[in-house]
Amino acid sequence: MTDTMTKEQRHKCMSHIRSKDTKPELKVRRWLWKNGYRYRLNVKSVPGKPDIVLRPYRTAIFVNGCFWHGHNIVWNSTAENIYVSSSSCCRIPQSNKEFWMSKIHRNQERDSHNYNILQENGWQVIVVWECQLTPKLIERTMKEVEIMLNKNIISLHSTHHKKDYPEGKDVGIPMAAEERE
Ligand SMILES: [Zn+2]
Repeated sequence: MTDTMTKEQRHKCMSHIRSKDTKPELKVRRWLWKNGYRYRLNVKSVPGKPDIVLRPYRTAIFVNGCFWHGHNIVWNSTAENIYVSSSSCCRIPQSNKEFWMSKIHRNQERDSHNYNILQENGWQVIVVWECQLTPKLIERTMKEVEIMLNKNIISLHSTHHKKDYPEGKDVGIPMAAEERE
């Protein structure tokens, strides 16, 4: 069989294979980096230790796995019981169902607690879901993220915001850098 791919095509094809197993967070970081956004990772001085912090935009990005964070699942409760309906990207296993339900429920509670604290302190919270980062959707998803980032820059310059987390604390943390693709 002859190899008819050009060098460029082959490179494209191989990089596609390589990126197949990429963690969702890394996909978001790579996109931001390639598009000129600079950020810090897991900044401890910002509540909830967001995955990605863009301080100039006063924005925290959380990249959530659909299963662990219960994307689109629906909770219903009666006086005695809590029921949950799986979603297309978060299927609760039937065996050990109680265990998974309470685990995911706790994760969701922690998430909303963290998002609330950030928002109360004038931070914009952006949640990106794993299922929105497929090769088909990633560009659209990240364009939306970009719009939200830029909207926040505009509102930061037009309003007086509340207490900041001291800049000093993460100054020592180097800016994250991504490999060139
Ligand atoms: Zn999802």
